[in-house]
Parts: sequence; structure tokens; C-alpha cells
Amino acid sequence: MRDARIAVIGAGAAGLSLVRRLAAHADPPPVILLDAPPGPLRPPERTWCFWEEPGGEFDAVLTTSWSRLRVRSRDGRATLGRLAPLRYKMLRSPDFTALVAAELAKAPTVRRITATVTEVRDTPGGAHLHARATDGTPLHLRARWVFDSRPLPALPPARTTFLQHFRGWFVRTRDPAFDPATADLMDFRVPQPPRGLAFGYVLPLGPRQALIEYTQFSPTALPSQAYDDALHHYAERILGLGEFTRTGTETGVIPMTDAPLHRQRGHSVFRIGTAGGATRPSTGYTFAAVQRQARAIAAACAAGRRPVPPPCHSRRARTMDAILLRALATGRIDGPDFFADLFRHTSTPRLLRFLDGRSHPAEDLAIGLRTPVLPILRTAAELPLLRRRTRPEAPR
Ligand SMILES: Cc1cc2nc3c(=O)[nH]c(=O)nc-3n(C[C@H](O)[C@H](O)[C@H](O)COP(=O)(O)OP(=O)(O)OC[C@H]3O[C@@H](n4cnc5c(N)ncnc54)[C@H](O)[C@@H]3O)c2cc1C
Repeated sequence: MRDARIAVIGAGAAGLSLVRRLAAHADPPPVILLDAPPGPLRPPERTWCFWEEPGGEFDAVLTTSWSRLRVRSRDGRATLGRLAPLRYKMLRSPDFTALVAAELAKAPTVRRITATVTEVRDTPGGAHLHARATDGTPLHLRARWVFDSRPLPALPPARTTFLQHFRGWFVRTRDPAFDPATADLMDFRVPQPPRGLAFGYVLPLGPRQALIEYTQFSPTALPSQAYDDALHHYAERILGLGEFTRTGTETGVIPMTDAPLHRQRGHSVFRIGTAGGATRPSTGYTFAAVQRQARAIAAACAAGRRPVPPPCHSRRARTMDAILLRALATGRIDGPDFFADLFRHTSTPRLLRFLDGRSHPAEDLAIGLRTPVLPILRTAAELPLLRRRTRPEAPR
């Protein structure tokens, strides 16, 4: 049995963000970071986008960043928003992982173990972990605090669960086709699903290179071929890219749910990251919230407090998201019109502050008044009466 002050399970965005914060403390606690071996439990590489001011701690390893965001309504009308003083930043997971690995290589208090965690048990004064090393050897570990970022086996019951499901192609065009200063956040010119909404997402990496994605917010994921068909249509018919080659692919399914995701599994065991509710239900954005959560946990550990992860999103934000998800799911609001109008009538920095949960109630009200008020009020009134139900199938 090995002892550690802190055990962190999972070396994804949440686990790595937390461990690097703990290691950066003036008097860092001993930490064991456990991650599954390469295989089905390891998430594939991905790109994270988030917004913040220039000079952020990951700026040196960003792929790129943009000063403008564009939203296009179904009829092609464009709203161009200037982000200043913020930038929309793209960080690829291998670059983040390499940065953190280099930091941790210089951190004598952090030990990395490749093993599959099979059980975590809260015990008096700490927790016990059982794991299996790559060669099958059982491993037992005791820690004062455990932070677990393993994905939940199934989502808890919810009033509404949508999936944000998407596929992206990294493309290289023969002729210049992209404006490297502008990212297309939502382009609603794509065919829409019967429930929810769909949009194109274009992240230019240069005049001839971009990540282009087809995304749906809807109840179920699509067959694989449907994403490729939608991307062909988007690239060729809508964006008119001309001749291009595909250099990579990215696929994802992010749950958008109003289910309560509990951060405490016991006195000493906590969930972090997506499993602990870091994903904003209405947008799927997670990375910035994970950074805030990691900072707060590390500060609590340094201060000798019980390091319960704080909620990543305020109750007000989660309530508004529950209303929005429900209004979309019932078809009471038209998704493409809703988002296109929101961007048209609200300044982009204010909207991003709102999405970060950093806006004031007065600003929220001003934004709320720009939405279809009656369907939203009807949905808000109905929400407390709805039962939370288990999804028939968990998203993969
Ligand atoms: C393709 C894609 C693109 C995304 N883009 C964005 C974006 O642009 N902006 C944004 O904010 N969010 C984005 N998200 C959402 C979110 O940021 C990510 O899902 C984020 O990577 C979640 O990090 P996590 O650490 O909580 O979970 P994960 O990344 O799922 O990490 C879980 C970790 O647990 C480990 N693990 C699992 N089981 C075991 C086990 N039994 N034992 C030991 N270890 C185990 C895995 O190896 C993994 O390291 C995206 C998601 C996807 C899928």
C-alpha cells in the first residue's frame, strides 16, 4: 500500500490542470497522478477553444488565436463581433499535455503512474484506491484527498439532456479561403435537425488552412457517415472551398444536461472536470472552468482547508441553461434564430462574460429581454414541475 497526500485520477484537462497547480505551490503536497494506459479509456486528442485576455499562461503553446468572432444566420446574414480586450484562443491537447509533462518533470513531489483505477473508497480520514497496472499487477493506494476525473458511466437523471455532437476536418485549400483574424463561431446555413439545431464552425489557422466542423445540439448522435456528408456539403456548397485536402479529423460528443453532477463522492473523494459538472450545459465549453476549479482546489489545499471543488457555474447560470435547453428541446424557441439574434443584439465581450457566468444580474436581464420572452417565461414556469428522468442510453 502506497501513501500520498493527494491522488488525482485522470490526466485529461482536469487532472493535469489540477496537478500542475498543486505542484506550483511554495510547499507542494505529495501527489500521485494516475492515468489509464493508452487504449479505450484514454480520450482522443482534441482542440480546446476558450476566451481570455492576451498574456494567458498557455499563450506560448497556443495553435493560434482570433480577434473577431462571426455568427451567420440561416439566410447568411453575418454578425461580426470584435472581442477586444479578449481573444478567442485555440490550444491543442497534445501541446497542453507536453507543456504540463515538462513542468511535472521538474516537480519532485509529483509521481505519475499508468494504471486503470478500478475502485475508490472513502474511508475514515482519507480514501483507498484500487488500480491495475499495465501488466495486470494490482495496486493499492491510500490518500488523504482523491480527485477523480474519470467520465461518469452514465449521466444522472435530468429534465433535459441534449448532446453536442460534432466532427471536424482539418483542411488545406489550394487557394486562399479563410480570414485568419476571424473565427466563425456558429454558421446556421447548414441543414437543421428536426429537434435542436446545427451549425458550421470554422477556425482558420491561416489563409489556406482551417478546422471546419459540423455540430448539432440534439437528442442523439448521428451515424458516422452523416457527419462526413454534412461536412462535404458545408465545405463544398456553403463555404465554396474549391479544391482542398483533409489533414486530420476530430470527433466529439459532449453531454449538455441539467442533471446535477455532484462534486462530492464522500468526505475525501471529489469529482473534477466534466464528471464534476465543469461543462457549461448550454455551450459545452469546459476548459476555462476547469482552470478556475483547479486554482480554487489548489488554494484550499495550500490553506489546509477541506478542498471541496467549488461549483464551476453559478446556480443562476445553471438555471438559465436548464431553461434554454428545455426551450430548445420542446421546440418553443428556434435555435438558429435564438443564437443569431443574441449575437446581433449583444456586444460580443458582454456575451462572453455572460457565458463565463461573470455578468451581473442586470446584464443577464438585458440579455434575457433580447430573447423570445414568452416561450422562455413559460419554460421557466414549467421547469420546477418536471421530473428528472434517466436517459435511455448514455452518450458515448
Ligand atoms: C473533441 C472535443 C473538443 C472539445 N472542445 C472544447 C473546446 O473547444 N472548449 C472547451 O472549453 N471544451 C471543449 N471540449 C469539452 C471539454 O473541454 C473536454 O471534454 C475536456 O477534455 C474534459 O476534460 P476532463 O479532464 O474532465 O475529462 P477527460 O479528458 O475525459 O479525462 C478523463 C481522464 O480519465 C482517464 N481515465 C478514464 N478512466 C480511467 C480509469 N479507470 N483509470 C485511470 N484513468 C482513467 C482518461 O485516460 C483521461 O485522461 C471538447 C470536448 C471534445 C470531446
